[in-house]
Amino acid sequence: MRIYVLGICVLLSKIAMGQEKYPKDIFQSPMDIPLVLAGTFGELRSNHFHAGIDIKTQRREGLPIYAIADGTVTRIKISHWGYGKALYVAHPSGHTSVYAHLQKFGPGIEEYIKKAQYKKQSYEIELFPDYGELKVEKGNVIAYSGNSGSSAGPHLHFEIRNSVTEKPTNPLLYGYEVRDATNPTLISLFGYPLSDDAVVNQSAKKVQLNYSKQADGSFLADKVNAIGTIGFGFNSFDRQDLAANKNGVYSVKQRVNGKIFSEYDFETFSFAETRYINTLIDYEHFGKYKQRVQKAFKEPSNRLSIYNTMHNDGKITIQEGLSYTVELLISDYEDNEIKLVIPVEGKREEIKIPRNDDKTENFVIASKPNNYDLGAAKVYFPSNTFYEDFYINLKKGKDTITIHDNSVAAHRNFTISFDASPYNASERKQMFIARLDLKDNPRYHRTYKRDNAFTTRTRSFGRYTLAKDTVAPTIKPRNFKEKQWLSNYSYLSLEISDDLSGIYSYRATLNGKWILMEYEPKKKTITYNFDDNILDKTQCDLKVIVTDNVGNTTTFEQTFFRK
Ligand SMILES: [Zn+2]
Repeated sequence: MRIYVLGICVLLSKIAMGQEKYPKDIFQSPMDIPLVLAGTFGELRSNHFHAGIDIKTQRREGLPIYAIADGTVTRIKISHWGYGKALYVAHPSGHTSVYAHLQKFGPGIEEYIKKAQYKKQSYEIELFPDYGELKVEKGNVIAYSGNSGSSAGPHLHFEIRNSVTEKPTNPLLYGYEVRDATNPTLISLFGYPLSDDAVVNQSAKKVQLNYSKQADGSFLADKVNAIGTIGFGFNSFDRQDLAANKNGVYSVKQRVNGKIFSEYDFETFSFAETRYINTLIDYEHFGKYKQRVQKAFKEPSNRLSIYNTMHNDGKITIQEGLSYTVELLISDYEDNEIKLVIPVEGKREEIKIPRNDDKTENFVIASKPNNYDLGAAKVYFPSNTFYEDFYINLKKGKDTITIHDNSVAAHRNFTISFDASPYNASERKQMFIARLDLKDNPRYHRTYKRDNAFTTRTRSFGRYTLAKDTVAPTIKPRNFKEKQWLSNYSYLSLEISDDLSGIYSYRATLNGKWILMEYEPKKKTITYNFDDNILDKTQCDLKVIVTDNVGNTTTFEQTFFRK
């Protein structure tokens, strides 16, 4: 028994002494260019916080990516969207480094993946090599930078996660040097009346507040008259010295008469909570203006773990006749800081802008499941689809239904079921559930068909209808012609596209053998690399089959020669 207890003590002290949470000197840079960031950790993105840093690659692809420390590859994932080509390396320190949007992988790793892709006959793949099967040493070239997946321009997306919890941590905590002496920029400031009796500047609705820059560089807001429980929100971005990119800030602190009321920073968060970003930002404002206003107070539905200090959830109760000094301190990782002072006076005034009273027929209680029959389709919201109770705007229709608008966020998927019985079997085959965009273009939503019931699961509000795709995909060669000699070519490239429902699958063979075609949906191209050495004959018969999301199929066949 004593030995057992002693064992635990030794283990605990080892963890306490040896394993520093954020060691500053054990990781090298993943690139040998100066680190200029196009995105910071925790940056506010659509439905998630950015889980890493985006390192600019000088508008180029193919720059070497280095292992930041000794380790072993634990996961490889290749997908058309998302991280594109991504590599995960576990290190003995208990950290996992992640490299994404890669162009290709380094020596050894690339061959390992190709073998698996040929075995599975799929470009998209996810692999979990055995521990130690793909060892890397600090400084090894493990990949080359690219623009694969949902990346809008060449860059390296780089993360450092805790290997056990898989929580991403801010890579800048590990001592990486990024030149930043530039202050964050403040774009706008808002006051929020929160309690039923609350009023800010004679408004019972959210109100924009004016401020001006002072001689010492800080900002001073015009005096606010308020009563009841109120809160503040702001819109800002951070810029580094060497780039124009609008990145996210690192920490936010709100003080009221010198006391900290709320404080949060982007040291770490979990993927499980990341969607709660929609409770941190003013989602209605985002829907209208595409600007992300961060609230310095915490909504009841907000389950984010990013908060360090909290008093009264960051909400301030203003009493008549008293004065308050509210300070907002918004800073980047290098402690460049915006200081904004908001003088508030407790004053009961006439309300000029009353609270919104947009009542509709249907009031949703967020904690309960809700079912609606909208004519052409039925909608089912499971319990806790939404963050709070609200009047939902639903429009019935014979063909098209409307589910609210983009002023409210759905946290979970809800189900839309269309009745396709007015259509015959051959029509139904080519039909799918589409969401109509602002220009009325139908966008495919993954449609599950069971007889006459077409179902989709989604978190997007808007107009939904049944659409029909009668046109098969197109396939066009980009760099070769029928009966051409391609001996000096290093790759084959074709353009594939579909007008409506989108591409579901593609398959290519050379003389009957499956070949790996890398699909880049942004460029609508599929590419075969002759290094794969599939050819054994001079005459090569290429066959490509592409199928769209409703099953329309196109086959392309061509012959070329190669020695
Ligand atoms: Zn990124």
